[in-house]
Amino acid sequence: MKITFIGLGNMGAPMAANLARAGYDLTVCDLDPAKATELQSLGATFVDSPEKAVQHTDIVMTSLPGPKQIEAMAGPAMLEAMKPGSVWIELSTNNLEVERSVRAKAEKQGVEMLDAPVSGGTEGAAKGTLTIMVGGDLPVFKRCQPLLEVIGGNVMHLGDHGAGYVAKIAQVVLCYLHSVALSEALMLGVKGGVDAATMLAIIQNSTGTSYVADRYGPPLLDGTYDPGFALGLAHKDMRLTLELAQSISAQLPLCTQVEDLYGRAVKAFGPDQNHLMALRLLEEANGQYLRKQDQRETA
Ligand code: NAD
Repeated sequence: MKITFIGLGNMGAPMAANLARAGYDLTVCDLDPAKATELQSLGATFVDSPEKAVQHTDIVMTSLPGPKQIEAMAGPAMLEAMKPGSVWIELSTNNLEVERSVRAKAEKQGVEMLDAPVSGGTEGAAKGTLTIMVGGDLPVFKRCQPLLEVIGGNVMHLGDHGAGYVAKIAQVVLCYLHSVALSEALMLGVKGGVDAATMLAIIQNSTGTSYVADRYGPPLLDGTYDPGFALGLAHKDMRLTLELAQSISAQLPLCTQVEDLYGRAVKAFGPDQNHLMALRLLEEANGQYLRKQDQRETA
């Protein structure tokens, strides 16, 4: 089975590396050839355009920034070069509108589609333990399941096309809500006189603790704001949340506020900053960094 993996970013590169290590015949592609260097040393072949990379391939996997880039692949740039009977497994976080329009084009081409967005961050991608939420036809899922189990520890078929994207958006929103909640709780403690590291340790050992407290607390306190996921992509997820909510008439007041915060942070700091920079706005509003004692200064 020949596989092509397109999009070798923070998530794509470690996922592709796991496929290469598992011995698959793998072609990889990214706008930036440097991102393929390590994969080439694992036996993958780099091709510099998606159109050339997908010819003669049985399965194409994409891990791209978002709807715009996915839509751009659904034409001569990639899809039209795929062979009939092949499968496009789309691993990014996407919206339902683009899912439908891309799938309609894929059907005309005789290409099967699965939406298979992932959760677990760069750590899960490196370890091959991602949660993968799949929408699409069950027989196609069954055919691709062994491959998905190389990159994921929890691979679930959720139903029809689009179900994966819905589940992904519904769970990822908690990451941002929790990040804001964590920073507000820390701010309350720190401004009230408790050391930030002590306050984080208390949160981690109390009823309000979360994966976010364990995973994002330390990079918030050391001022690195967590490389590995971009602020612009975090804001994209919040926008997708509000779009989905509107399309199904869900009222989500907290999500509306959090989307606004991430949007303002993108304007203030730029989309390429680390995602926890959104919380810098809270630090600035309070004139107080959430830092360990030895790194404390005034925001
Ligand atoms: P990223 O920006 O690091 O990687 C995207 C890659 O796609 C880049 O290397 C870019 O060069 C490449 N690319 C863009 N357009 C291309 C094109 N036309 N041809 C070839 N390559 C192209 O993003 P990421 O953090 O790896 O995230 C990828 C997807 O996974 C996003 O949809 C994101 O929302 C989702 N996601 C990310 C995380 C995370 O922790 N980083 C976790 C879960 C889901």
